[in-house]
Amino acid sequence: MKGFRTPLIAGLLSGAALPAIAQEYVIDAGTLFDGNQLSENARIVVQDGRVIEVGTREEVDTPEGAEVIDYSQYFIMPQMIAGHSHVGTVQGMEHGGDVYSRETVERDLAQFARYGIAAVNALGMNRPLFHELRTEMRGPDYAEADLYGAGTGLGAPDGAPPADAMNTEEDQVNRPGSPEEARESVQEMSNMGVDMIKVWIDDMGDNVPKMAPDIYTAVFEEATAQGLLSAAHIHDYADARAAIEAGVNVIAHGVRDQEIDDELITLMAENGVWYIPTININESNYLYAEHPEWLEDDFFTMGASPELQEAIADEEWREKALEDVDEDRQAVAVNIENLRRIVEHGGVRVVLGTDSGATAVRIPGFAEHQELALMAEAGMDPLDILIASTSAGADMLRIDDLGRIEPGARAQFIVIDGDPSESITDTRSIVEVIRY
Ligand SMILES: [Zn+2]
Repeated sequence: MKGFRTPLIAGLLSGAALPAIAQEYVIDAGTLFDGNQLSENARIVVQDGRVIEVGTREEVDTPEGAEVIDYSQYFIMPQMIAGHSHVGTVQGMEHGGDVYSRETVERDLAQFARYGIAAVNALGMNRPLFHELRTEMRGPDYAEADLYGAGTGLGAPDGAPPADAMNTEEDQVNRPGSPEEARESVQEMSNMGVDMIKVWIDDMGDNVPKMAPDIYTAVFEEATAQGLLSAAHIHDYADARAAIEAGVNVIAHGVRDQEIDDELITLMAENGVWYIPTININESNYLYAEHPEWLEDDFFTMGASPELQEAIADEEWREKALEDVDEDRQAVAVNIENLRRIVEHGGVRVVLGTDSGATAVRIPGFAEHQELALMAEAGMDPLDILIASTSAGADMLRIDDLGRIEPGARAQFIVIDGDPSESITDTRSIVEVIRY
């Protein structure tokens, strides 16, 4: 059993390495968030990479010979689950399927891990290599974030994801022409090994053909028959509603064309639909051009590529990036309002997801922390945001030993100098990411 400890900001600056972790150790925490609730003066006992006991320091004894890590001044939480991302398709300022490789996938998973993310749901546009990597790049002996995902995903012929804009390769998206082909495609993916089935329904603002209802209905039915959850890329209210009525399990983007009503929220709640807002997807188109001062912030620069940092430093790039973003700002506002309505109504399971990794400005890991702040803007309680980013994401991906700190869970913790249950942006004050 290996032990991985990644010291963040302080370590990056000092270059200090931390000692490897012992087979058996105890962490004394100030405040513990276990994936569901908070407790004070907690003690976590870890053996061979798994949590074996959690409780207060009065309740739980330190096993004889165990190493003790005194983090009683810090907040400890499980590592997060990124519910909607992509891996291996960005190189510098470019994106496309031609850069998808073992190296670029692992580069992204390593970056997610540094930001305190335990597992990543690569929701489509994966190339065939994905199925091999999905077996290899997960589990207790793997040092980076665990790879989960949807394989290619299914789009309409000539539809989303737009092959030109996304530079997709032929083998990155399946585009079935009939319900029969759609069912076969889902069966094939299920046989090769996927964690979810993804469809793109959206017409990208009337720019590409929308997926036909008989095709996505066949996809959702076949996914269910194969024991898999299905997720839909939507933008509009009408598509979200039609997808839910056709049996989809996950709405993979927030509704952004109009404000949603109680009817849709009730429909999601009654059908147990997971909702992933991805507010940062539109915000990322202008956010970084607005914040050149972040080039001085280590938490940002450890994720932004050198090419992106160079672009942000260039005034001309910033001006151009901000030229045509009214629609994005509007989409962010509507997305936030819709999340606010969902939260106020209650009953819908919200999961952290950002669509990070799909383009150069959707920064793996950083985007996730940014999304937490956007969820707070929608009025979500910080504790509920922490749940959405840990145990809820694990439940959606059917992972029973991540996203929680409880007996049997893998020992994957974020050590924070602050209290994100009060102020969510404190998740950025990471002292250390511990795995195993
Ligand atoms: Zn996506």
